[in-house]
Amino acid sequence: MILRLKPHISEDIVLDLARRTESCVVQKPGGSWLITPSKLKLVPEFCESYVDSFWVADSDIQLAARSFEPETATIRTPLTQLGGDSSHTLLIAGPCSLESREQIEQTAGLLKELNISTLRAGCYKPRTSPYSFQGMGLEGLKLLAEIRGKYGLQIITEVRDYSHVHEVIEYADIIQVGAKAMYDQGILRACGKARKPVLIKRGFGTTLQEFVQAAEFVLSGGNSQVMLCERGIRTFETKTRFTLDLCGVAWLKAYCNLPLVLDPSHAMGYAYGVPDLTRACVAMGVDGLLIEVHPSPEKALSDAAQQLDHDTFRTLKKSLSSIAEAVGRKIV
Ligand code: PEP
Ligand code: MN
Repeated sequence: MILRLKPHISEDIVLDLARRTESCVVQKPGGSWLITPSKLKLVPEFCESYVDSFWVADSDIQLAARSFEPETATIRTPLTQLGGDSSHTLLIAGPCSLESREQIEQTAGLLKELNISTLRAGCYKPRTSPYSFQGMGLEGLKLLAEIRGKYGLQIITEVRDYSHVHEVIEYADIIQVGAKAMYDQGILRACGKARKPVLIKRGFGTTLQEFVQAAEFVLSGGNSQVMLCERGIRTFETKTRFTLDLCGVAWLKAYCNLPLVLDPSHAMGYAYGVPDLTRACVAMGVDGLLIEVHPSPEKALSDAAQQLDHDTFRTLKKSLSSIAEAVGRKIV
């Protein structure tokens, strides 16, 4: 249940009501909101005189429920916005890992050439083996921030674990919480206190309910700037790396008010399928795309098989505008 309290109620009273209803408190411009467990279906008597309006939830998808807030949330990034009434499909591109100055300069150059504003590169990589490249860490973050300034881009980079979440929050324009990190409540709670957009990727064994509930940790922590990213789930199929759950995307569009970003690169796992899959994603009428691109994919230190080379990416980019237009969207 969401209880919108009347304005000007003292903090002591708000905290007491929150304790008695086992709620999270979210501060809003018009007053505090209490987000109670969804099993509560009636306004408790001791709250009645403080409540302006209320909404009854049918599950712990509450702040992100379209039945609570029908409008898609607006996400404000330094260079553009998505969701809300923007009809933008934000193209996010870059290598899986930031590997060197030369590599990231080449990528930034490509993005500028193609009028793309959002550069993505991982500095803390959540690898499945401790013996694989783990990312450049803080040195990479500083380099990425330098490239942002030099090329006039905005940057998104991922958090691997809680130990560096505050570093990523400080340097990134958009914070990426990866498929493996999305269950880490330390990370989610830190993102809830951040005042920057957060992109949460769906774990490959995560139900849609669990996925949106991960977002609820951030929303109920006071950060309304959350996007969801479908990046493929694990099925019985082994010919592709994962299976992009477009049915899940249709469900999220219908029942959830958070902007949706689709990542065909990790879902497919192989570059040959990424362009077609990307076009299918655009046709779904989504708010963003995340595509991995590398100056020399065969030399990439992570996810080498799925990254597009620059020429393939150029050709792909050209083909997207007309599809976006057909579904009332604009690639930005
Ligand atoms: C990535 O975006 O490079 C990545 C590691 O993705 P995921 O968390 O979806 O596996
Ligand atoms: Mn990757």
